[in-house]
Amino acid sequence: MALSKLEKIEHLSLGAVFDLTCSQEQPNPTELDSFIKGTQGSCIQRESGKLPGISNVSNCGRTMPVLKVLQTSHCKFNCKYCSFRQQNDRPRANLTPFEIAQVTAEMTQSGLIEGIFLSSGVGDNIRSTMTDIVDTAHILREKYLYTGYMHLKILPGASIDLIEAAGQYADRLSINMEAPTESTLREIAPNKGIKANILKQMQAIETLRRQGKINRRVGQTTQFVVGSSDDPGANDRALITAAGYFYRELNFRRIYYSAFNPVPGTPLADRSPENPRRSHRLYQADRLVAQYGFELKDFIFNDVGKLDLEIDPKEAWAKQHPELFPIDITKADPSQLIRIPGIGPITARKICQARVDGLLKSPDDFVKIGRIIDKSLDYILVNGRAGRLKPVKVPGNKTEQIELPFGYEKDKVTA
Ligand code: SF4
Repeated sequence: MALSKLEKIEHLSLGAVFDLTCSQEQPNPTELDSFIKGTQGSCIQRESGKLPGISNVSNCGRTMPVLKVLQTSHCKFNCKYCSFRQQNDRPRANLTPFEIAQVTAEMTQSGLIEGIFLSSGVGDNIRSTMTDIVDTAHILREKYLYTGYMHLKILPGASIDLIEAAGQYADRLSINMEAPTESTLREIAPNKGIKANILKQMQAIETLRRQGKINRRVGQTTQFVVGSSDDPGANDRALITAAGYFYRELNFRRIYYSAFNPVPGTPLADRSPENPRRSHRLYQADRLVAQYGFELKDFIFNDVGKLDLEIDPKEAWAKQHPELFPIDITKADPSQLIRIPGIGPITARKICQARVDGLLKSPDDFVKIGRIIDKSLDYILVNGRAGRLKPVKVPGNKTEQIELPFGYEKDKVTA
């Protein structure tokens, strides 16, 4: 049965939520479950009045609504974790460049969205699908004079001329690497190769950007599927090594670590889902690499190259370096401040400003800076005074509320 345009948009927008490379929201599990199983055909029942395809995404620290949609859900590849793999018998759909451009322009005019995230299955032919993506962008920018945010997917193996064309229109480009090593990628996505059809495209984007052949504002993102393989090489050490390269050499804006979840009907359907806490620790490590100047040697890995799930990697580093703490925050430079567990760039800036204003003389003043993370108190001095007071012993072997002198928190102390 032929699908209406709205039904196709519903199908293709729900399919796009699997790609996290511009995400802020997590997909709705109930909707996804129906979609993955294909039990409701290609048209998902939605709350009445709720429009399909709108997700909130983060761009340069601002959250905005975007239309997140696939050009096509047809795919000739057979990635083992993916619902759209060619060998899966499931509903498919595709939209023409004109259809997507028109819907995007109308939704923008109605104030529903401020951007578009356009991803896609590979279709029958990488070049023709990538051409459709570029044509959609071209029609939007040239015919509809669209000025909103635009994130375009680069397909694995896309040719450089089409990457250059996409870069004329996009604010963001992304190609998903999925796994940090060649052997793992071949295992979970047999049609893909890091060297053969992913890394070359990533490097081309950055080369074109530096040469001024595409918009200089274009930044890249990518996504890893974490825990989809038992390959010991696909460990956290390898993921953080790759992240360091992407941020340092290729001007990446973000990297996404999607905890593996088995999809019914795929070869990995019986594999256990990855512990979401692993993704959480990887995101923490990722921020340390991207914003805090951490290098591979600063992370503590176990004997199989994984981070400790029970401790923030920054605190794990601090515990390994007792010789560096406590740090007196009235004297430390910004690069030292952001190494203190619980202190990030925003708090470090506030500390520096408070020093300039003469407002940082005691632990009490530090707490007034706002949004202080409790654990930072163990690692700091303020004008030579310890950040955390020693626990107060209460006689009588009972638990009492003790108000700390500088008003940071109320703490229960057991004598
Ligand atoms: S390339 Fe792989 S991950 Fe992308 S849609 Fe096709 S099968 Fe799915």
